[in-house]
Parts: sequence; C-alpha cells; structure tokens
Amino acid sequence: MLSTMQDVPLLVSRILQHGMTIHGRSRITTWTGEAEPHRRTFAEAGTRAHQLAHALRDELGVRPDERVATLMWNNAEHVEAYFAIPSMGAVLHTLNLRLPPEQLVWIVNHAADRVVLVNGSLLPLLVPLLPHLPTVEHVVVSGPGDRSGLDALPVRVHDYEDLIAGRPTRFDWPELDERQAAAMCYTSGTTGDPKGVVYSHRSVYLHSMQVNMTESMGLTDRDTSLIVVPQFHVNAWGLPHATFMTGIGMLMPDRFLQPAPLAEMIEREKPSHAAAVPTIWQGLLAEVTANPRDLTSMKQVTIGGSACPPALMEAYDRLGVRLCHAWGMTETSPLGTMAHPPAGLSAEEEWPYRITQGRFPAGVEARLVGPGGDVLPWDGESAGELEVRGNWIAAAYFGGVGAEPVRPEDKFSEDGWLKTGDVGVITSEGFLTLTDRAKDVIKSGGEWISSVELENALMAHPEIAEAAVVAVPDEKWGERPLATVVLRDGATADYSALREFLGGTIAKWQLPERWTAVDAVPKTSVGKFDKKKIRELHRLGQLEVTTLD
Ligand code: ADP
Repeated sequence: MLSTMQDVPLLVSRILQHGMTIHGRSRITTWTGEAEPHRRTFAEAGTRAHQLAHALRDELGVRPDERVATLMWNNAEHVEAYFAIPSMGAVLHTLNLRLPPEQLVWIVNHAADRVVLVNGSLLPLLVPLLPHLPTVEHVVVSGPGDRSGLDALPVRVHDYEDLIAGRPTRFDWPELDERQAAAMCYTSGTTGDPKGVVYSHRSVYLHSMQVNMTESMGLTDRDTSLIVVPQFHVNAWGLPHATFMTGIGMLMPDRFLQPAPLAEMIEREKPSHAAAVPTIWQGLLAEVTANPRDLTSMKQVTIGGSACPPALMEAYDRLGVRLCHAWGMTETSPLGTMAHPPAGLSAEEEWPYRITQGRFPAGVEARLVGPGGDVLPWDGESAGELEVRGNWIAAAYFGGVGAEPVRPEDKFSEDGWLKTGDVGVITSEGFLTLTDRAKDVIKSGGEWISSVELENALMAHPEIAEAAVVAVPDEKWGERPLATVVLRDGATADYSALREFLGGTIAKWQLPERWTAVDAVPKTSVGKFDKKKIRELHRLGQLEVTTLD
C-alpha cells in the first residue's frame, strides 16, 4: 500500500529559497584583511544567486547537467555559486586549489568544465593551466587580481560583478529530479588518479539536515560558524548548505588561513562554532600560545579529516574551547560520525568517548569487515575495515562525460557498501575508533602496529609539535615504524628519551627504533600528513634517520 503523503523533491533550490526568506537577515561575513570584513545578508546573497543563474544561462549558455567549476576561497561569492549552479540544474564542480597543477588539469578535463569561476587572487594558479584546458571557454573573475595574463588566451573573460549586475532578481528554478547531480568533488588522489564523487540534490538536502541535528553540529540562527574547512574540500563539510536551512551565520576566512588572522577573526567576530582539520588547530594553538587571544566564544569546534590527537583536545580544553571529533570522507558527503558522548556522564567519564571518532547518525549504517571477509562484532576489540552505506554515501564514481559511473572492486562491496579503506573497532554503543588507514598500517612480524596510536602518543610529549609515523621496510620484521618528529623550539629530548616516553603507553615491541626530525611534516592538499611523501623521502634516502639499539 502506498502512503498518502506528498512527494516534493528534495532540491538545493528549496534550501536557497528557505534561507534567503526565512533567514534573510543572517549574514555571510568574509574576511578581507582590511579594517572591516565584508558583510552580506542571506537575502542579498540569495538574490545574487538568482542573478548569477541568469548570467550563466542567458549570457554564457550554461545548460542543464553542465559542470560549472569554481576555483575559489571560502567567501560570499562562492556561497552564491553553491546555490545558483545546482538550483538551475547545472553541476557545481569545486576545484581544490592546493592540488598539483597536473592533477587539476586532469580533473578539469575529466569533468569537461566549460566555465570556471575564479577568485582574482587565484589567477596566477589558473592562467598557466588554461592552455591545457581545451574545454574551458569562459573565465568569470571575482575580486581583485591581475587579469592581464588572460588577455592572450582563447577564453572569454568576465567580471563577476559586471556579469550579474542588472540581471533579473528572480530565476524560475526548474523542478528537477532529486536524484540528479547537484555538485561534484574529486578525492585528493593520494592514491592513483583523483576520483569524482557526484552528489545529488537529495543527498545534499538530507546531509544538510543531518549536519543541523543536535547529535551532529546542531547550530541555529543564534550561531555563527567559522568555516575554515575549504569549500573545495567536501563542500566545506556541508556547512554552506546547512546554514541556509537554519540561518547559521557564516564567517568566511577567504585566503586568510594563517594562524594569526584566524586568531584575530575569532577574537573580533566571536563565532560560536568552527570547523577545520587538526593541522589548522595545531597552528592556531602555537599562535595563541605565543600571542594570547580570547577564543572562548567558540562553544563547539568540529575537528576531523584526520585523527585529532587527544593532546590537542586537552590543550583546547584548557583554553575553554571544546573540540568535537568527526570522521568522514569525500565519498560520505562527508558526515560519517561525531563524537558527542552519551548523556549523563562526568567530564572524566566523557573523555574516552570524546577521543573516539564518534558514533554514527541514523542515516549511516556501518559494519566492520575482517581480513577474511567476515563481518565482525561491535565489541570494541575486533579490528576490520569500515564499510558504510546510507543516503549521502557514494555508490560509484564519475566515469567521465557520457560514460557510465565506475565501481572499483576495492572501493565498493558486491552488495553496494562503500569500503572506506579505514581500519578500526566499534564499541557495542556504536563508537568508532580508527586505528589506521588500511594502507598506513605497519605490518611488523605478522602483527599490526597502529601508526595513529604512535602519533597520538608522540604528540602528547610537550617538546613535540607534530609527529607522523610510517612503515618502512625491515629485513627481519617485514616492516617497522619510522617516527618523523617536529621538535618545538628549544627542545632538549633525544630520541632515546622520546622512545622511553612512548614506553609509558605503548607495548615495547611496537616502539620505533628509527627516528628522524624534520622542520615540518609534509602535508597533502587538504592539510593531512602526507605519508606517501614521507615514505618516498625515506626510500630516496633523503631523511637523516637515527636507528636506536
Ligand atoms: P583523501 O581520501 O583524499 O585524503 P578525504 O578528505 O575524503 O580525502 O579523506 C577521507 C579520509 O580521511 C578517511 O577515509 C580517513 O582515513 C581520514 N579521516 C577523516 N576524518 C578522520 C578522523 N576524524 N580520524 C581519522 N581519520 C580521519
């Protein structure tokens, strides 16, 4: 028997209309580096999104399903693009500006982007790529920047403001099928070619609702979120869409992502929430340790993208800022888990829950699969690969224009679950602890050593700023851990002392013999430890390694 309920498609245009009317007074504040940031209400940004859609269709001829790329920082114009492009039936394609040039070229060509919206400050990055991007016909430039490099190129150049000025302020949004593509984002390609994940209107809508649930970020129009996680990195964790649902103010750092301006932004604008990867919070911690600032407006901070070292969480607790750990991936939109402890616990009892990756929301089903393919129990001990499924989880990757989606066997199970490549355990209460990425696990003499556990233990040492542990070949054991550490200024501990310190929490056979100190741990385009790079430096003999007895 069918229900008697209405079936209204879940569309991005509905989120836009809701935000610009019901929450028209909420604001997007964009940092400019000048005395005053730029402020625009949701009503104004929404109206400009209507005008942008008109410009894209009426002037640039953008058709339904066509990919429109953005190469932009987090700012009000990027939010306008976020709503205009999917609402008109085209596909928002966010480009990760930190990728190596050859990967960006590969991605734009694979998606066959015809239009690129770019911040003027990023033209030095785009201009040299354009001769290799035959599908790109239009470049729309927003904000200041030297545009002269575009003159000699066979593209039509538009100024964002001129392009939208005077356009009709109402676009008749099409009634799309909610399963149609709304946006796409390529994984950062740390292994092999980048893979395109294509989000639907339905997945964006449902994911935004989840972001807004109390068990996830749970913010309202009384909040302002400092959105540091880039809009080109898994849709800024879904925040720009979610904010238009509930009226959360957005504080956008634009290109001012260094610790000092971030500290200033927080002290001046007093956001109640923020979202960023651990690297950002490590940098900010060093900054406010040297130059104290009041960060206490931030009642909640969402931290994820890589494991949050417990020592970092403790350091922020002391500053009066609570970090809440979250896990997700490009393929999961990204919200997978969040680590809110169950109700009714003391601070001390909450701690073991807070340092996990968190628990799954109702919309995400999870299972652990052991090396032999068995589904493992949630007993907090059995470690296996995490597989997930749900309404905002990818079922396949973009196969190229006109081609079928692809479902590589190592990424999707036969029964359609996403294989995350993450290894961990789940407790009977559904709290996930990741011990490693499958490819980063250290296989020593038939046993597994968790690189993450060693890193967390090292980063709890007061003289260590950062630590990354990778597997290196070993004649006797197959693989052994190499500890790569960044020592704080004035550090006096030697490697033996550090190993002894680790011995306090780590089993003896897991303690690294090989040690190296570097100025900074190499990072990927989205700020994670680049272990592939470290392994390569080691292989090429470019690290000065000390081996302890
Ligand atoms: P890429 O796979 O290219 O690094 P993603 O941003 O999609 O790009 O990364 C997803 C991966 O990041 C996850 O599979 C997981 O390994 C890691 N990750 C994300 N959040 C966490 C977290 N809280 N703790 C540990 N690892 C995390």
